[in-house]
Amino acid sequence: MLTTQETKKNTDNDSSFMQRAFELAQQAEQQDEIPVGAVVVYQDKIIGEGFNQSISLNDPSAHAEMIAIRQAASHLNNYRLLNCTLYVTLEPCPMCAGLLVHSRINRLVFATSDLKTGCAGSVFNLVDNEKLNHKITVEQGLLSTECSELLSSFFKRRRKEKKALKKLIKSQDEQRDNISE
Ligand SMILES: [Zn+2]
Repeated sequence: MLTTQETKKNTDNDSSFMQRAFELAQQAEQQDEIPVGAVVVYQDKIIGEGFNQSISLNDPSAHAEMIAIRQAASHLNNYRLLNCTLYVTLEPCPMCAGLLVHSRINRLVFATSDLKTGCAGSVFNLVDNEKLNHKITVEQGLLSTECSELLSSFFKRRRKEKKALKKLIKSQDEQRDNISE
């Protein structure tokens, strides 16, 4: 049993690790990538960090979790991430949820649910599934508002930019038509 003090320490640690994942998500946003960040923690230390880089690396597998887990495994010099926790700002997709099972990670803490592709309970549950050989403890909700607002304002901005670009192309076309007439 954890004492009250230990429980509080764990909660404080969870918050600060999720805060770091949120900062990484903000870094992704600055690079025009979908803002998701992740950290892997072992014995109260961050041993892997990542943020989405699929577009800049031309790599559909370069999700925040994938990058953080690769870094952590190489740090531990082990393909199993036993007794590690992954903190991520968005519920993992099918690929990353599968990766978590392969990595034998112990615990998953995510901020906000992904109702379209989330595989830690929203669409499927791959991380805590009777049919699979490894089950992960899942917790959610930490920094959920901040992380989901970062995502929705990112998509809002992108939609706006796309609209503005379309408008610009249209007006250029019209100008060209006017000149040729
Ligand atoms: Zn993913």
